[in-house]
Amino acid sequence: MAANPMPADRQRWGRFNQLQDANFAILRRVLEAPGGDADRRKAGEYYAACMDETTIESKGLGPLEPELGRVAQLTRKEDLPALVAHLHSLGVNVLFRFGADTDRHDASKQIADIDQGGLGLPDRDYYLKTDARSVELKQKYQAHVQKMLGLLGSAGKPAGDAGAVMKIETALAQGSMDRTARRDPAASDHNMSTAEWQALTPAIDWTKYRSAAGTPAFDRINVSDPEFLKAMNTLIASTSLDDLKTYLTWQLVNNAADRLPRAFADADFDFFSRTLGGQEEQLPRWQRCVTETDAELGEALGKAFVEEAFGGAAKTDTLAMVAGIKTAMGKDIDEAPWMSAETKRAAHSKLNAVVDRIGYPDKWRDYGTIRVVRDDALGNRQRTTMFERKRTLDKIGKPVDRGEWSMTPPTVNAYYSPDRNTINFPAGILQPPFYQAGREAAVNYGGAGAVVGHELTHGFDDQGRKFDERGNLRNWWTDTDAKAYEDRASCIADQYSQYVVAGDTNLNGRLTLGENTADNGGVRLALMAYLAGPGATAPPVLDGFTPDQRFFIGFAQIWCENRRPEFERLRAATDPHSSGKYRVNGTVSNMPEFQKAFACKGDAPMVRQNQCRVW
Ligand SMILES: [Zn+2]
Repeated sequence: MAANPMPADRQRWGRFNQLQDANFAILRRVLEAPGGDADRRKAGEYYAACMDETTIESKGLGPLEPELGRVAQLTRKEDLPALVAHLHSLGVNVLFRFGADTDRHDASKQIADIDQGGLGLPDRDYYLKTDARSVELKQKYQAHVQKMLGLLGSAGKPAGDAGAVMKIETALAQGSMDRTARRDPAASDHNMSTAEWQALTPAIDWTKYRSAAGTPAFDRINVSDPEFLKAMNTLIASTSLDDLKTYLTWQLVNNAADRLPRAFADADFDFFSRTLGGQEEQLPRWQRCVTETDAELGEALGKAFVEEAFGGAAKTDTLAMVAGIKTAMGKDIDEAPWMSAETKRAAHSKLNAVVDRIGYPDKWRDYGTIRVVRDDALGNRQRTTMFERKRTLDKIGKPVDRGEWSMTPPTVNAYYSPDRNTINFPAGILQPPFYQAGREAAVNYGGAGAVVGHELTHGFDDQGRKFDERGNLRNWWTDTDAKAYEDRASCIADQYSQYVVAGDTNLNGRLTLGENTADNGGVRLALMAYLAGPGATAPPVLDGFTPDQRFFIGFAQIWCENRRPEFERLRAATDPHSSGKYRVNGTVSNMPEFQKAFACKGDAPMVRQNQCRVW
């Protein structure tokens, strides 16, 4: 950590970021010399438009003016649903979120879903907390909103001010469910008829919203948060049209800020990155434009990334690790002393049904219909967002596409999908330091193997355990086993709630429970698979370390990082993952295997007295 000080343009700096940078360097090469392939060319044009600050500057607010005009021309609340539908198509998520989601009770099909949304700050608690730091942040946010509205000048300037925005967003925050409560999938499971949905919100005519959004026909919807819709209904009924328009204008300019002239982009950076995240300087523009091209045309660029950076050995080695780790999980289930034979059977059938996806999707998304124009950075993003919006809405009523990915191939991350029962490892994470072809297996298992174990364990964490082998929300636990599970999980929740970041902020053990459970089980499973596999014949000592020690060092290495205090606090409030330090120390201090590997004394700081274990 001492040898890798925080760069001025980062909020955190660690091994993940180093790998992200290496992947971005590959993407940059592709984007700057895309060659003849149509997808690469389109991504290259998108990137070039994003990089062209001179054109962006010279166009001023021009590209946003038609949209500002639409908001300005709203003269009656009856027309609000259609305007909101249009803003949603541009990715401006005002008031609420609407889209398609897997039907929780029939995971083979997709249904309409409506959820809370509409905030500018990262979480509802930022509006509701009353301690001195929260109050100060809220004041700074209001000043930022005021500044952005002021930058619009007379052309787009609404009648109201930032005070109106704060009032509206605070009401939405008050109506929102908190992040921790939302971890329980049952809390957001409210399948109802469209008539029942309409009855919740007399102030909004949903037929107008649906028709403007162009949704397929549907007669059932999951209303994730009915209480939120009621609060939003009261808000719309009781707020003046001018104030609503001010709020919509703010959200519109906030969404476009980084593709507008510098004055807007700088103000946006100043609040959201510097004040909230502690970042001192902007990332170089090329990095921001690579990030955006990856977000908007991810599979066009991802295909190129896979061609450049993903070798056959990575896929074969990962598949072997996955097989070994699944076997370890089966053994772990068999040996769990707290689980009945009946629940173990159900756990096995879920484990056997887990599908693994390595590297990239079998079928690439076709971006052929998107028009990308060399001198229109904001318009390009509007068009890619509208494409994605239409793709999402078209899913309503259709079967689930089980081969679809929710991360792009260059992403340095992985995920478990509870509604598909799949584990997914993008090509971007199957690179050093996580994995390297031909490298000592202990380090590959401590890195990529721990990630595989982590994702597999998600299928059996506090959320994942509530879904069955098909991805349906269905209880397959006996009451006694569920209670034993909850007791074990509470040990982990209590453990992590005691950890402090930035000198003054406790982690939320309930918010981070699923991730910590996945680390807790994942590292153990990876170690089991390593010892039963390549570890059995590994050199007894290498660079002075035993196989077990090399495994743990490999694991700790992936999480070394420095974080800014502002970023630590932001993440403690919003991120279901714990800070890197506790992902390592919290996990291994629960493991007798670690104590043994390093011959720690019983009272050593890295040996917890009350060791927690779920899996
Ligand atoms: Zn995870």
